Amino acid sequence: MDYQNVIDRIHGQLGDLWKQGRVADYIPVLAKIDPRQFGMAVATLDGCEYRCGDAQVCFSIQSISKVFTLAMVVQRLGDDIWKSVGREPSGNPFNSLVQLEYEQGMPRNPFINAGAMVVTDRLISLYPHPKDAIIEFVRGICGNDDIYYDKEIARSEWLNADRNMALAYFMKSFGNIVNDVDTLLDVYCHQCAISMSSVDLARAFLFLSNRGVNPFDGTRILTVSQAKRLGALMLTCGFYDESGDFAFRVGLPGKSGVGGGIAAYIPGSLAVAVWSPGLDRHGNSLAGMAALEQFTTDIGNSIF
Ligand code: GLN
Repeated sequence: MDYQNVIDRIHGQLGDLWKQGRVADYIPVLAKIDPRQFGMAVATLDGCEYRCGDAQVCFSIQSISKVFTLAMVVQRLGDDIWKSVGREPSGNPFNSLVQLEYEQGMPRNPFINAGAMVVTDRLISLYPHPKDAIIEFVRGICGNDDIYYDKEIARSEWLNADRNMALAYFMKSFGNIVNDVDTLLDVYCHQCAISMSSVDLARAFLFLSNRGVNPFDGTRILTVSQAKRLGALMLTCGFYDESGDFAFRVGLPGKSGVGGGIAAYIPGSLAVAVWSPGLDRHGNSLAGMAALEQFTTDIGNSIF
């Protein structure tokens, strides 16, 4: 399959789709990002890489980090994490508070903010230096030791974290957050601010495509069953209240972030990442969704 030709053609066909999206503006540093950017990268399990446009430009991965922290916690805690976080789509926006009261502080899934904060809370209990551990993990799965936090974004997230704080305190009142909320928010804001390119992200999702084994050094990160479960959660919950539409249009497990990135993969074959900062009303990259839909259509392959 000539993936280079496929992604170049997709890039050329995007037209002015970026004009219809809206850059995330809940923090000033994201609001000033130029929406006229698009990058796409493919990494295959047989070691090939393809890239186009702004594929090497770094951006904050935001909620894509929820996949990495979940993998780290599942690796250590196994099934115990499912006593505190559900596995159902929420059908609500990623930062919604509404379900939490009805469901006694137990978030619907690990990919909405509330669920991701429970996961990060467990990570803090498991790792003495959680921020170092997260960076080390991400560097290891994409084989790039230069990856680091964008400190300006982390700070800006922290200064505008009122709603996430509210979610965390609310869950703490039900006993579902055990660490200090300020410490939790510090780690959570940092994980959102990990700076990576589409090339890095495609590489970072390869261990999922490889059924839990890091293809760069051969280490097993997750069992085959755990990797399957992460994929199932991404398919059903990775795009918040647009998860059904992503599955319908693209047909791959994947995860988005409000920085405009999306990473997805085909089990046993490849990982693909796109970045375009203009978002749709659900907080998913508008051009990114369209590009991935075209990608699986053009290659004639998906998980279905
Ligand atoms: N930093 C954002 C938040 O916590 C991440 C949300 C997202 O990417 N969907 O609100």
